[in-house]
Amino acid sequence: MHAVSWMGSHNMQVKEVPRPMVTDPADVLLRVTNTAICGSDLHLYVHGMPSMKSGDVLGHEFMGVVEEVGDAVTKVKRGDRVLVAFDIACGHCFFCNHGYQSSCDSTNPSKISEAMYGQAMGGVFGYSHLAGGYQGGQADYVRVPFGDVNCLKVPDGLADHDALFLTDILPTAWHANEMGEVHEGDVVAIWGAGPVGILAAHCAQHRGARRVIMIDSVQDRLDFVKRKLPGVETLNFKEKETVSALREMTANEPGRGPDVVIEAAGFHYSKSWLHAIEMKLQLETDTADMLNEMITAVRKGGRISIVGVYIGFVNHLNIGAFMEKQLTMRGGQTPVQRYWPTLLHKVQAGELVPSMVITHVLPLEQAPKGYKIFNEKSDGCIKVVLQPGA
Ligand code: NAD
Ligand code: ZN
Repeated sequence: MHAVSWMGSHNMQVKEVPRPMVTDPADVLLRVTNTAICGSDLHLYVHGMPSMKSGDVLGHEFMGVVEEVGDAVTKVKRGDRVLVAFDIACGHCFFCNHGYQSSCDSTNPSKISEAMYGQAMGGVFGYSHLAGGYQGGQADYVRVPFGDVNCLKVPDGLADHDALFLTDILPTAWHANEMGEVHEGDVVAIWGAGPVGILAAHCAQHRGARRVIMIDSVQDRLDFVKRKLPGVETLNFKEKETVSALREMTANEPGRGPDVVIEAAGFHYSKSWLHAIEMKLQLETDTADMLNEMITAVRKGGRISIVGVYIGFVNHLNIGAFMEKQLTMRGGQTPVQRYWPTLLHKVQAGELVPSMVITHVLPLEQAPKGYKIFNEKSDGCIKVVLQPGA
């Protein structure tokens, strides 16, 4: 079969690889029909990750048709159209039972993340051996462990592209709002106008935020937001420094700052990040500035929500301001399965339209082009969907 294989930094190739098989009674084998490239894949594309191996199959946002099921699978059957959560959950450990499926204790045999974080992160498809070394879904076929837990049957009548982002970025955008406790009347500022930030703005508006301000330096993306989400305000940080601009924009608000700030941009690694992690050193990066911007800009008593992905240490945080301003900071990979009942309903009802971010639909064979334009933010690219066999 064909699969997008990681062959090193800036080098994704579509290669012939062995087709996966059902190897456990709880497995589902899926024939992939649609799979997207995520900002999280860009971390691998640009920098690699601890324990990325040449030939690893990428992709954690995918849906398709069930080809085969193991003997223990009861909720889906051959021929069903399903979408799959990017976070691989066992469904029965302490964390899964408490709605923290992305922190599942049973799906990441790798000891690397345990050594880095004190407790292992959960397994993720196509996301390096740090996250369990699972083969991803940017491929003709993919093996889905714990199929009953990680597959969601797509209701008839819901189009593929409306359903696809229930795999990751819609639940992530929702999680950003949940962690930030976005309520009716709130002023919300969002760093990063990529697919995650845009859907976070969409969810914030849906939840009744009074003002949503999106921050990025890519004017094309900010213009896209204005077209798709009327009412959202934009701030280009190349033109105006973020904190002072936010201060001005919220000068007449009761709290004189946003109630909630959301980080949907992610970590920009320093060149020595891997070395630093191995040595348990603290990194100096421009990303620490982004977090400090959030701490400085948010109003006293405000909420900071981080869904942009970070790895390891980022130092020089203004913990003094964090403490004196009585702030709350939360972060996390989204527990996709926790939000499925709520979000499937909202997508079916047309209250949330996550497919709005799709700008490119390409055959899987054109994955290298897809990665390039998504990374460069060229050709008006916001979100790329790849179609195996197209
Ligand atoms: P993306 O790369 O398309 O978008 C990131 C955007 O942030 C870009 O438009 C970039 O220009 C902007 N940006 C960079 N530096 C900035 C700064 N200093 N201030 C404001 N904006 C800045 O990626 P995406 O697909 O939208 O994903 C965003 C982040 O969310 C990534 O880090 C990704 O790994 C993460 N993510 C997390 C989860 C989760 O469960 N927590 C799930 C999916 C994606
Ligand atoms: Zn993703």
